[in-house]
Amino acid sequence: MNAAATATPGEDELAWLRRCLDLAAAAREAGDGPFGSVLVDGDGQLVAEARNTVNTDNDVTAHPELKLARLAGAELSPQQRAAATVYTSGEHCPMCAVAHAASGVGRLVFALSAAELAAVTGRPGWDLPVRELFARRDLDVEVVGPVPQLYADAVALHRDH
Ligand SMILES: [Zn+2]
Repeated sequence: MNAAATATPGEDELAWLRRCLDLAAAAREAGDGPFGSVLVDGDGQLVAEARNTVNTDNDVTAHPELKLARLAGAELSPQQRAAATVYTSGEHCPMCAVAHAASGVGRLVFALSAAELAAVTGRPGWDLPVRELFARRDLDVEVVGPVPQLYADAVALHRDH
């Protein structure tokens, strides 16, 4: 396992993850899946944020992580993408994990793991860990998560949803 995989996020990173939870709450409020993500550049500046709009947009691919991967690919240079991080409320699904890797964004930090998510939603088969997927494809993305400090707040967004 990559040493970074067990790194604990600092306060600034926890703040980005809390912003993701706020975006996820807004998505839930709007009737969408409770997921939110932010793209932050190598200098720690916000590039963009997104939330799930699958129901609002009637688009099954409207996951925030996929939106940010597309945006990063379109608007950032390869060097900027390599230095950037996507923070997200829940670990990427396989669709978004592949898009993230294809975009060249170098880092991924998630609050709630796919396994934790599957346990609370009762939807099996969505708990393929991104580290496993990246390893199988030999994709070079640094992964940090889950973050125990945010578990209660993150999982609460998925209860009774
Ligand atoms: Zn996804």
